Amino acid sequence: MRNYEDRKVSINQEVVTEVRDKLNDFKREIANYSVNEVKTEELFRLLQRLYTLGGNLLAEFDEFIACQKGCNQCCDKLVYITELEGMMIDEFIMNNFNQDEINEIQSEVNKRIRLRNSTDASKSYGEVIRSHKKEFSCIFYSQKNLCRVYPARPWNCRRHIVFSDRETCSLETEENPITLDNTSFTEVKDLVDDIEEEIYRLNDTFKNEIYYTLQGYAEEVICEIDKQEL
Ligand code: SF4
Repeated sequence: MRNYEDRKVSINQEVVTEVRDKLNDFKREIANYSVNEVKTEELFRLLQRLYTLGGNLLAEFDEFIACQKGCNQCCDKLVYITELEGMMIDEFIMNNFNQDEINEIQSEVNKRIRLRNSTDASKSYGEVIRSHKKEFSCIFYSQKNLCRVYPARPWNCRRHIVFSDRETCSLETEENPITLDNTSFTEVKDLVDDIEEEIYRLNDTFKNEIYYTLQGYAEEVICEIDKQEL
């Protein structure tokens, strides 16, 4: 398979094996956890371990992908998250944002709610987003071209890597980007899916089976955050 620069994409098989082994260790370990005794901090630590495993694997493709720091081409799409991932984002905000920054996020969320309420009710959320691309880009995307919650960003933001030209990511083009899902790296893709399954299992076993979109989570939870009340 060749990337957007017409370079042949390859991966170090030793890294794939190492990540597979570490994921198996993780699964064995987690089987010994008692559902009622695991604290939220420990769940965050376990989730971070899975993020790190996925990150180590996908970093193998760094030199081949079109994704670059500051690119937000995929930050205007619906991103699904587990409740646990949302809680980790909350914690990151609480520990790293000042009250002004929290207020800014809250006002962005409210702006989107107002805009959505003012649009044609017969349209799906996806259609509304497509027709108001800029206004609906992720609330965590800052004007300075950065993800404001980068260290706590959810799995779906992490696993999305693109081998084709960045133009293919734009909602305006008819082309689909070449992601891991449509390459011949099936073993890597299966491993990424396996990591994802563990992320969902972690949520479903120790939290309720609750999922959100990032935007939905922000509307339900982040609007309630007020540092001054803590
Ligand atoms: S959380 Fe960060 S990476 Fe994910 S969509 Fe939002 S701004 Fe983009």
